[in-house]
Amino acid sequence: MLEPRRIKHCRSCGSLIAYLVPSDDNRERAVCGDCGTVHYENPLNVVGTVPAWQDQVLLCKRNIEPRYGMWTLPAGFMELGETLEAGALRETDEEAGARVELQGLFTLLNVVRVGQVHFFYRAQLTDINFNPGPETIEARLFREDEVPWEQLAFRTVRETLHRYFEDRRRGRFELHFADIV
Ligand SMILES: [Zn+2]
Repeated sequence: MLEPRRIKHCRSCGSLIAYLVPSDDNRERAVCGDCGTVHYENPLNVVGTVPAWQDQVLLCKRNIEPRYGMWTLPAGFMELGETLEAGALRETDEEAGARVELQGLFTLLNVVRVGQVHFFYRAQLTDINFNPGPETIEARLFREDEVPWEQLAFRTVRETLHRYFEDRRRGRFELHFADIV
């Protein structure tokens, strides 16, 4: 998860940026002191999956900062030109080298503090031959009582896993909304 972005230099001319409220606006924007270009900054979407195999879920041990060495569900920033679903499949392939069938949106988590919205899909693994990419040290399956709760990389992952096992116990999966503060 990234800290909120702060722009230092104009993307058009390279001059220094000042944060100020433009005359026709109502909030601070990154405005170029030279060419006047206004750089709008908006939340980013993070999309991922809860890949399941029988009573287990697939987690990835991070090979990158932040949270190097901690465990996460496969997830990452959505790319331009893709749908949420395509992003979820791509991240699952890139980080875990896993093939899944999506089963529906499961959590929608606002992370206002860092300007992000996280979406996790439930997903059914079609096999358990994982081939993790360079962002992942290890990808493996965990039963609920094996999940390394104290070594999870992100609160959105903890929230999603918690809701997942809770719903599975009840025998009914729902779409969950939460604000992560
Ligand atoms: Zn400029």
